[in-house]
Amino acid sequence: MSGLVFVVSGPGGVGKSTLVGELMKRDATLWLSRSWTTRERRPGETADAYNFVSRAEFETQIDAGGFLEWTNFLGNYYGTPLPDAPPGRDIVLEIEVDGASQIKKQHPGAVLIFVLPPSREEQRERLTVRGDDQRKVDQRLRKAEEEEPIGVALADHVIVNETIDKTIDDMLDIIARSRRAASIQGS
Ligand code: 5GP
Repeated sequence: MSGLVFVVSGPGGVGKSTLVGELMKRDATLWLSRSWTTRERRPGETADAYNFVSRAEFETQIDAGGFLEWTNFLGNYYGTPLPDAPPGRDIVLEIEVDGASQIKKQHPGAVLIFVLPPSREEQRERLTVRGDDQRKVDQRLRKAEEEEPIGVALADHVIVNETIDKTIDDMLDIIARSRRAASIQGS
């Protein structure tokens, strides 16, 4: 991987996918990795949100050494395939904290942005609107309580997602500063 690696992490329902989608629109030099998952596609979720695969397909890929990182999150596998970003592009990974920690170990220079929800109520609302049933929403909120202290400790930057516009501006600023720092180090 020749470019920078930006890891966007944070608990479910914090708005990571929306933020990352907006980042891609705003900066054409970013390249978003498409994860594999064994989770079922949600109603209304686009077919290219993930590479949706069976457990057997995922396990074959693990055995073949095809993942940069992978984890088991609430009973499903999620993993980042070995990236094939075009030269000159910086990589963006949208992953949970266990994967973020694996990436930081392999690539200490990776920039980890951890996004927090403004409140549990807002997070619950976002998780519910997405179409998950109440049991899943509760499970994800409990998981968020576990993930947050780990993510905050691991992160290079922590952002509270109060409004999309402000969070995107903060993220673009972090990206610009990281690029400047990398170019100074490289020169
Ligand atoms: P969801 O089921 O809500 O799409 O994703 C559940 C969690 O898995 C989210 O925190 C999401 O960011 C994370 N995730 C998505 N893709 C990957 C991946 O490739 N690796 C890891 N470790 N986590 C991922």
